[in-house]
Amino acid sequence: MTQPQHTGGRVNVLTKPAVIGSIEELRSRLTDAQSRIESARAGRGEAGLGRPRIVLVPTMGALHAGHLTLVRRARSLGDIVVVSIFVNPLQFGVGEDLGSYPRMLEADVAALAAEGVPFVFAPTSQLMYPDGAASTRVVAGAVGSLFEGAARPGHFDGMLTVVAKLFNIVGPDVAVFGQKDAQQVFLVERMLADLNFRTRIEVVPIVREDGGLALSSRNRALEPAQRAAARALSAGLEAAASVAAQGVGAALQAAHARIDVQPLVKLDYLVVVDPRTFLPVGGEHHGPARMLVAALVGHTRLIDNVALDLP
Ligand code: AMP
Repeated sequence: MTQPQHTGGRVNVLTKPAVIGSIEELRSRLTDAQSRIESARAGRGEAGLGRPRIVLVPTMGALHAGHLTLVRRARSLGDIVVVSIFVNPLQFGVGEDLGSYPRMLEADVAALAAEGVPFVFAPTSQLMYPDGAASTRVVAGAVGSLFEGAARPGHFDGMLTVVAKLFNIVGPDVAVFGQKDAQQVFLVERMLADLNFRTRIEVVPIVREDGGLALSSRNRALEPAQRAAARALSAGLEAAASVAAQGVGAALQAAHARIDVQPLVKLDYLVVVDPRTFLPVGGEHHGPARMLVAALVGHTRLIDNVALDLP
């Protein structure tokens, strides 16, 4: 059903997205949508623009304003936006929060309707892994076992495997990812280059709530005191960026000074990496760098990062 809706001063004509759980149906709907756009263009005398572009936003659902920023960027990059919602079991380790990860498909679809998204691909695990798990997997390599990969063995192999599958299923020209998961972005970019994918990726800056905490589906699990304490992570990164001119040591010290004083925040790692290699930099590093942080707040694992310019 199509209905006008008021969203923050904008008036959109909304169509509920088609929620699709079958690969064949998704492919045929995408082909139809491309043909319809091509005919409409031909009717307007606009032939020669090339095939309508498909843009994919891969997510695990429980959508928040960060995800919706990715969706808006996706709309600006192509003609047909597909949002995938799949809590990928392959990227969760034993004892991680696969079972308790928030799932709210109906609310997600409503949020995507308000953004004018035409297609939501929401496959079951059975569809993605008919044999229980993929026996062929993408291996993330050495960087895949650092930082998030050290804390979550196999996480990045599982993430890259599902990204490769989604790219093969959807065939997007562009896929949109968030800078919040900096190591994910690095590894996806490397996979696309190493395996000669035709899809390119677009990276959207981190979306934060008031007070600085990076938006995350996992923030829902934070109690008020934990949420307040979690702000130390972004405050630490901000403090680091503000003294980056004094070097890596000063940046690390400034971040530790904000984070280590919070008893509810159990720091896992705080490192500065070279964005070209994603390896830790030495004290003498100059030029662009990225500070990464991960911590447990209660049972909730939070990550964040910031660009540092080390002159
Ligand atoms: P997820 O559902 O957590 O797998 O996230 C789906 C995509 O949204 C990933 O590319 C994330 O990096 C991105 N994302 C999640 N939170 C944020 C945020 N606060 N700012 C920007 N991108 C985000």
